[in-house]
Amino acid sequence: MSIVALPSLRETIAAAESAFIDHFNAPAEFVVAAPGRVNLIGEHIDYCDGYVMPFALPVYAVFAAAVVPGRRTIVFSAGGDFTDVEVNLDEPIEPVDGCWGNYAKGVLAGFLARGIEIPDGFDLCLASDVPLGAGLSSSAAIEVSFATLLEAITGTTLGKKEKALLCQKAEHDYANVPCGIMDQFASAFGEEGKLVLIDCMKEEAELVPFERDDLTVLISNTKVSHQLSDGGYAKRRHQTEVALKATGKPSWRGVTMTDIDAVQSELGDEVYRRARHVVTETARTLDAAKALENGEMETLGKLMYESHDSLRDDFEVSCSELDVLVAAAKELGADKGVIGARMTGGGFGGSTVTLCRTDAAEEVANFLAERYKVETGIDAQIMAARPSQGALVYKGA
Ligand code: ADP
Ligand code: MG
Repeated sequence: MSIVALPSLRETIAAAESAFIDHFNAPAEFVVAAPGRVNLIGEHIDYCDGYVMPFALPVYAVFAAAVVPGRRTIVFSAGGDFTDVEVNLDEPIEPVDGCWGNYAKGVLAGFLARGIEIPDGFDLCLASDVPLGAGLSSSAAIEVSFATLLEAITGTTLGKKEKALLCQKAEHDYANVPCGIMDQFASAFGEEGKLVLIDCMKEEAELVPFERDDLTVLISNTKVSHQLSDGGYAKRRHQTEVALKATGKPSWRGVTMTDIDAVQSELGDEVYRRARHVVTETARTLDAAKALENGEMETLGKLMYESHDSLRDDFEVSCSELDVLVAAAKELGADKGVIGARMTGGGFGGSTVTLCRTDAAEEVANFLAERYKVETGIDAQIMAARPSQGALVYKGA
């Protein structure tokens, strides 16, 4: 039994509500939730005007909160090893290096910058079941959940798109991560039984039905997160900007292999390969959406493997642990129920996503877990996930 059972949203909500009572000696008036996400295909191109196809996971960051009339102070608590964070609404909101509260502070700053009035202070507790640093976007879950809380508390509902963009800016400005729009869009727009196909140039999300009980998405957390990942992400982003500039085009949309081949010598080998990933991954994502629509699972699986190869060889954001899991899935193959596999998320560790037949899922997970343990000595954490509901207000106006 290698597939771990996931807590239900009800359980995470109950944990947040009871943490709130323990911490503040009063019941919460507001309870909101926003999920992490997994990306099926389209990696590292959400900041290159590409297409990406994630879905919202059934694991959530839940905030329980209560307004404290007149006291213009917000107290955040996440329990565990995380220290409480206090913000005074009448003072500038400053990030503190490495502090978990930065995600919420950045979102708060975004609301204030829009002139949305927050008349009173409030207390809040976070309970999150999104694994941290596993490529499943625990950070976007916190941002989108907190933005949803502020919508409920202030009575000002932003559109999903505006909310997601505000959260992305929070991550840029307060957590210093120059991320694209995928994570926040998936968390805000996700729906049960739907993939979120995002056009990252138009900043539009289209819901693509994925109601296939016969298929299961396994997420295998390598439990490794390699050093330098932050610098690695920013460097990749910078390299894609250098490559685009060399093509002379205003956007990656419409850049072809012919365009990048024409400037290959100017780019040099490494930047050329980064550019090749952007062009081929964008095409793969659109092909994957088409394959899914036509029920061509073999094609979808092939595109997932190709995506992994490109991330490993051209974009160089994979690592040996991710490669072990993808190779194991591929080795098992279609006969044993595996459709496709690839690394998911920013890379340098984190998780892989394996699409398989539901009737084979347990055996596939067992095989991945065993192989991973033998090769790395680490127990992978393997979850089975279906596309789930995005951000929601559970309690409160
Ligand atoms: P990812 O988003 O891929 O999980 P990040 O490094 O972007 O990884 O975000 C992880 C950070 O989010 C943590 O270092 C912490 O600051 C914050 N975080 C995630 N989950 C929690 C939690 N349950 N409580 C407090 N902070 C959390
Ligand atoms: Mg993150």
